Amino acid sequence: MDKLTRRYEIGQALGSGAFSEVRQAVDKNTGQQYAIKIIDKSKCAGKEGMIHSEVNILKKVKHENIISLIELYETETKLYLVMELVTGGELFDSIVEKGHYSEPESARIVYRILSAVNYLHDLGIAHRDLKPENLMFSDKTSNARIMIGDFGLSKIFNEEEVMKTACGTPGYVAPEVLKRKGYSRSVDLWSIGVITYILLVGYPPFYEENNAALFALIMKGDYEFDSPYWDNISKEAKDFISKLLVVDHEKRLDARAAIEHPWIKRFKPEENELV
Ligand code: ADP
Ligand code: MG
Repeated sequence: MDKLTRRYEIGQALGSGAFSEVRQAVDKNTGQQYAIKIIDKSKCAGKEGMIHSEVNILKKVKHENIISLIELYETETKLYLVMELVTGGELFDSIVEKGHYSEPESARIVYRILSAVNYLHDLGIAHRDLKPENLMFSDKTSNARIMIGDFGLSKIFNEEEVMKTACGTPGYVAPEVLKRKGYSRSVDLWSIGVITYILLVGYPPFYEENNAALFALIMKGDYEFDSPYWDNISKEAKDFISKLLVVDHEKRLDARAAIEHPWIKRFKPEENELV
């Protein structure tokens, strides 16, 4: 803690979650601003694994659309994650404010999320909690980058482990063990389908006041492109969503295939163009 406060001036609160508080901070030497996530260890007793998995994941990732971890301080009771500061607010609030996004804007945002998710999946990491509250804009300008944050629920899916088990005694291995490969990452593609739907019309594909009824809709993959909201939205956009909101995860597009979908390719920025 002393080491932390010697280096950083800790400022105003930026947000909070169940186990943590996020505050703005300034490096006293350079004037550079950061966000510090302060995790109360006592509140996550029994969930230490979750904290360590978030830390280990953040240390590994470096991508322009993922909030990066700068450094880490630990005391008896608390954990301080010094992270890149984003100032553009949550995508959730932008959707509420704007109502919805246009097709080109939506496709570009989704393209950025997909390239970050594809990068994570190649590292063997599934985010598992993608939603507009966990997506933030880098700054307040119109060409701000969308950034993935909050790795609290992420999991490194250790394929080697699965394969080792499977290869040990191949004659005995059950199909679902072999099939587990790719299972955890496919949840992110479902979430991206939901996010794309919300971006385009401003309301979610699955909605019920009552959770049991909501789960029933999700389990059936029961959603519609309702009129009049979807009347002027392209066939490609609907095709893209319908290939992500697929109940059978094996038939769902993976990140690489989703990036190659015509709707994404149509609006994808040129190599040298910033989004
Ligand atoms: P939790 O795991 O507790 O949900 P999050 O990582 O989602 O914590 O952070 C909680 C809130 O703090 C976010 O919704 C956001 O408003 C704010 N926040 C988180 N990280 C940053 C950051 N790097 N820069 C600016 N604000 C942030
Ligand atoms: Mg969160």
